[in-house]
Amino acid sequence: MPVPPSSESPSAQARGRKAVRKAEQAQDGKPQAGEAKKTLSPAQQALLKLGLRRDIDLALHLPLRYEDETRITPLRNAREGDTVQIEATVTHSEVQLRPRRMLKVTVDDGTGSCVLTFFSFYPSQQKAMAVGARLRIRGEVKGGFWGRQMMHPAFRAAGGELPTALTPVYPTVASLPQPYLRRAIATALLRADLSETLPSGEQPPVEQNYGQNGLQPLYDLRSALTFLHHPTPDVALATLEDHTHPAWQRLKAEELLAQQLSQYEAKRERARLKAPVLRPVSDELTQQFLAQLPFGLTGAQQRVVGEIRADMERRIPMHRLLQGDVGSGKTVVAALSAVACIAAGWQCALMAPTEILAEQHFGKLVGWLEPLLAPLGKRVAWLAGAQKKKQRAEMLALVESGEAALVVGTHAVIQEQVQFRNLALAVIDEQHRFGVAQRLALRQKLAHTGLEPHLLMMSATPIPRTLAMSYYADLDVSTIDELPPGRTPIVTKLIGDSRKDEVIERIGAQVASGRQVYWVCPLIEESEALDLSNATATHENLSEMLPGVMVGLLHSRMPAAEKKAVMELFSAGVMGVLVSTTVIEVGVDVPNASLMVIEHSERFGLSQLHQLRGRVGRGAAASACVLLYSVNDNGRLSDTGKERLRAMAETNDGFEIARRDLEIRGPGEFLGSRQSGAPMLRFADLEQDVLLLDWARELAPRMLEHHPALAARHVSRWLGGKAEYLKA
Ligand code: ADP
Ligand code: MG
Repeated sequence: MPVPPSSESPSAQARGRKAVRKAEQAQDGKPQAGEAKKTLSPAQQALLKLGLRRDIDLALHLPLRYEDETRITPLRNAREGDTVQIEATVTHSEVQLRPRRMLKVTVDDGTGSCVLTFFSFYPSQQKAMAVGARLRIRGEVKGGFWGRQMMHPAFRAAGGELPTALTPVYPTVASLPQPYLRRAIATALLRADLSETLPSGEQPPVEQNYGQNGLQPLYDLRSALTFLHHPTPDVALATLEDHTHPAWQRLKAEELLAQQLSQYEAKRERARLKAPVLRPVSDELTQQFLAQLPFGLTGAQQRVVGEIRADMERRIPMHRLLQGDVGSGKTVVAALSAVACIAAGWQCALMAPTEILAEQHFGKLVGWLEPLLAPLGKRVAWLAGAQKKKQRAEMLALVESGEAALVVGTHAVIQEQVQFRNLALAVIDEQHRFGVAQRLALRQKLAHTGLEPHLLMMSATPIPRTLAMSYYADLDVSTIDELPPGRTPIVTKLIGDSRKDEVIERIGAQVASGRQVYWVCPLIEESEALDLSNATATHENLSEMLPGVMVGLLHSRMPAAEKKAVMELFSAGVMGVLVSTTVIEVGVDVPNASLMVIEHSERFGLSQLHQLRGRVGRGAAASACVLLYSVNDNGRLSDTGKERLRAMAETNDGFEIARRDLEIRGPGEFLGSRQSGAPMLRFADLEQDVLLLDWARELAPRMLEHHPALAARHVSRWLGGKAEYLKA
């Protein structure tokens, strides 16, 4: 599944993980993995690898499914397709050689017979199944012309007590056999501290259809876990599978509560921090800025600017996400926020995930701001990885002295050598491409004053409401829900690979009429090298098929200067077609480009496609996006593939697309780097468990207020050392 590359450096990730591990160690005070690695058995190592360290981790490792070994089914009653346990006597046993070597064992339990087939078997097994042996056998019954059959059933000698509960089957790996895991979990379940953490009288809601007759017991954590690991055979298995069983409800409620608590706690901690109050002495600079803009702000832009400025005038650091569809005009909102910050006498930083994007922001902001800043003796500074030493030193000096009122750049902005005089506002564009570590580093930039800068994060991938309520509960959200006027909607077409030549013809026509075209090359998962060779080949192909048209190539491995040169040619309108890998992508703004072709569109996430598509339709010209898809061997796209791409053709609304993406792909995409360091919800489902989510949202702040010790215990039980990580 293509996910946007995390910009977090491996070392930052390692640091994050280390922090998590440390916190966990501190937490349960036991010696940990690393210390005695060599003496660990493969199964023990596998446990650690699965994150099953503490007793509670094991207790929360729940079965995938169950096997019913609690009863013996008479063969007469075993229906085709049933997985049953029988006790029967071997009446015949032989090794057949045709069509291949196999052991055929016939058993009879007095009510019927069944043939067991084994394609691989040890002599010892053959012996155990000798004629006359009585066996307890478990497997799936297949009917058929030759009577009942089981392929490779499990078997052992008959007799012995039947268990009273269903047998759990856990998610595991090869080196960790079920019986070992079962024992480890059963022991942990007895040992783990599962004492109640919910304040008395604060039961989560129970689904209506349960407990109507008052017989259904209410579960606490211990009884819920005990039940889910070893349910009684009378349970409706479907309610375990779809997690609607009250024991599951209890577990999901607890999980959501832990996550809400950690979010509220983060919010409260943030509220204790202090930020500079950014109240401009006069509104003159803002007025000048607006006067020279070639357009007026939309209502939505005005509203969000108001929200941001109100935040920045408070003593508490802003922690706000500005979300708006591609092309909704977030940059100018960032610029106005910067102006307010500068007018109050402080510095602002704007960071973008790629050099191209940062460069575009820089160009735009210099144009907008330098005329206003020059009379004040201030400038806009540029910081990027590929910078010449001399220029870099110059820029660093500007930042340090405060002459640079605004600093624009890539990750270079947060490097240690960058010393701000008084950074008060940090803007992060495409925030989901940055990691926790980077956000933390930005916040450190004002630490020498004991203050925190205000943080404004921008994203074109809107967060669905349920996610905003849960994972981003400690984040304020501003939404630009209106596009600037005069845009023509983008027409999206799905076209099969086989018609690529037609598409290329159409490109020729577009370029001939003075328009420009993007061609985005397929994303090949985990292989930058393949991405590249693909882009190079496409570039050659297009150059050949479009004589007289300048076709450019942009990819992530190119030196920055070369990228810049290509971008300049395209921006200036000299280059007709730009072939690029996606790594470059997001955020480029060339209004004359009106056609985008995305190859192998079925490999992209919807939100990603939507962002890419947003590169066109920026001017007044009618724009189109062609989603080329390739079909599988039987000539068809998979159903999900088609459904996904159809969503793209049906709507231009980024929110709707995000919603469908969430349905199809799950929430990972939206969470950016949180997905790497923090557990997603394992049990609860944000869409389905709204009732429980509401309960948790309501309880969390009260619990922090009145039962802080219980709250702390609850969070550490559920999130362990990861709680800290969730807060950044
Ligand atoms: P995004 O939200 O995707 O970052 P941009 O900030 O790049 O969008 O804006 C997209 C384009 O729309 C830019 O060319 C920008 O100058 C222009 N724009 C922004 N706001 C307005 C407006 N209110 N009226 C007209 N054009 C606008
Ligand atoms: Mg943008």
